[in-house]
Amino acid sequence: MRKPFIAANWKMHKNIAESVDFVNQIKDKLPDPAKVEVGIAPQAFALYSMVQAARNSGLKIIAQNAAAEYNGPFTGEISLRGLHDLGTNYAMLGHIERRRLFGENNTAVHKKVKAALQMGVTPIICTDETMVQKEVNGEIHYVFQQLMSVLHGVSLDQIRNVVISYEPSWAVGVGQHANVALAEEGCRTIRRTIADNYTYEIADKIRILYGGSVNPDNIKDLMAKPDIDGVLIGRASLDVDNFLKMVNYL
Ligand code: PGA
Repeated sequence: MRKPFIAANWKMHKNIAESVDFVNQIKDKLPDPAKVEVGIAPQAFALYSMVQAARNSGLKIIAQNAAAEYNGPFTGEISLRGLHDLGTNYAMLGHIERRRLFGENNTAVHKKVKAALQMGVTPIICTDETMVQKEVNGEIHYVFQQLMSVLHGVSLDQIRNVVISYEPSWAVGVGQHANVALAEEGCRTIRRTIADNYTYEIADKIRILYGGSVNPDNIKDLMAKPDIDGVLIGRASLDVDNFLKMVNYL
């Protein structure tokens, strides 16, 4: 069975003191880590303090971004080697805001994914694309071209260590209610794409999250869908009470 994964994306919110205080307030109220995995992606400068604060709590710490190179003349970038040393568990790669506001394209995200896998930091690959219809042997298939170009060259062994997050552009940061049926349809199509390009066994094991306007009111309905294994939460994750309601949705 796929373990549910509830992840918070704090974007450019909370300083170090606020981040650590948040962890101290929630750490004894998290669900059993054997049943639900919980993670938070703070700002980069708070990662070290967050890893320390989260020690022994089961809470996973996630980087919001990482560079494709491990070291060198890359001013302002965040090294995966450094993230690995720090004990960061995951790195979110290709988030829609990185693509939309900072010009990250599939080639850049692809290199980051490969580098993260090699370094042993699990990538949470974000995909915001709309499905396109394609005729294959007279049948209409829905395909995720963005995801497949990001996964190019990712081997059968490596794909097992990937988390995918489906975050359609109409749903991220808009504060609207997530459309549960469309969220499930997107995640199901991603799973089918993985089955077609890898194996059914892998598609069955890989975790696919949904992101976009998740909140305490809709999390239960989203998590009840068979192909949604978790959620990536922005705005609603910033408040301790809301966060605790969502991680304890079961
Ligand atoms: P939102 O953000 O929950 O505020 O829509 C989601 C995300 O960016 O991952």
